[in-house]
Amino acid sequence: MQVPFHRTAIGEAEVAAVADSMRSGWLTSGPNVQAFEEAFAGFVGAKFAIAVNSCTAAMHLALEAHNIGPGDCVLTTDYTFTASAEVIRYLGATPIFADIEPGSRNISLQAVAQKLAQHGNIRAILPVHIAGYPCDISALRALIGERPIALIEDAAHALPAELSGQRVGSLGDATCFSFYATKPLCTGEGGMLTTDHANIAARARTMRLHGIDADVYARRGEGGPSWFYQVVAPGFKYNMTDLAAAMGLQQLTRQVEMRQRRAEIAAAYNAAFADLAVVLPHAPPAGSHAWHLYMLQLHPSIDRDALSQTLADRGVATSVHFIPLHRHPYWRQSCALHESQFPISEETFQHTLSLPIFPDMTEPELAHVIDTVCSAVSTL
Ligand SMILES: *Cc1c(COP(=O)(O)O)cnc(C)c1O
Repeated sequence: MQVPFHRTAIGEAEVAAVADSMRSGWLTSGPNVQAFEEAFAGFVGAKFAIAVNSCTAAMHLALEAHNIGPGDCVLTTDYTFTASAEVIRYLGATPIFADIEPGSRNISLQAVAQKLAQHGNIRAILPVHIAGYPCDISALRALIGERPIALIEDAAHALPAELSGQRVGSLGDATCFSFYATKPLCTGEGGMLTTDHANIAARARTMRLHGIDADVYARRGEGGPSWFYQVVAPGFKYNMTDLAAAMGLQQLTRQVEMRQRRAEIAAAYNAAFADLAVVLPHAPPAGSHAWHLYMLQLHPSIDRDALSQTLADRGVATSVHFIPLHRHPYWRQSCALHESQFPISEETFQHTLSLPIFPDMTEPELAHVIDTVCSAVSTL
């Protein structure tokens, strides 16, 4: 049996919705984008949602709307995908990297406190809800105190995740979601920015489409000449297509159900691996994990790469999340990063393997992964 690392959960409802959108004649941002934004804002409990073509675009817009620019520093984590840090460079600002905490693998609160004390010009913190484990946003707020520092979250993995009964997307100053093919909600490529701040939402809406004051769809109903528009800034081309939004609307209705199935898979793995020489991933005490990734941390005596190869030979695809930024030549050289600055991130990277976890995983597939991992770990 072959179990893929991920299989996208696209049903006939998505196919039909995209076909309808194609027949409607509205291909670029239109009624589906507007409906998707409203439904998404309602789902996470945010006042505003701005649909874009990637999470990277959403993070860029969120930082831009907070006036981040040259001379400013933005604090993020070393244990993430490069997108979380590259957007800081887009604006000419300086990224600062913090190590992670061992249990959650999220940005270390202790490291945040230390960096805030060291650098007076930190203007934003960009935490990442890694694997779907929600970061403690209220603790980060408490550390920020009265300083003018924005909390902009990379929630690429965190749909839906909760902290104290509130969904990620309603917690920080701005939250950025990814709808990339492997992410919890998929539109092929896509992303969403959520915020409760009207000024941030307005600026992001303008900047996602060339710095034009309103998008094509909104202008149609305004009564004035239909050709009129005004450019107020050199914006970007980040808008979402109506085809993607049609798919997103369908996927959104199944998010709770899809997370539930991933949580069941995680629980089955945790029960089956309880006696192995591994550290099991867990949910936060006062929150709910999105279980986008199931990251198993192996005892240092187990060779991660050998295990991954053995599993592949027996039909179980795995992956490694993430190669820390300090291990990439660009970040290493341009920010003078070294593994000695990120001991937890480095240690986690060396011993962690991500197992398949996706809502359409069948019971035989789940059983095959469990059997294969148990026998491979015990014999390696
Ligand atoms: C996938 C991912 C992104 C980027 O998402 P896109 O929609 O592809 O731009 C950002 N951060 C993390 C942690 C991711 O895994």
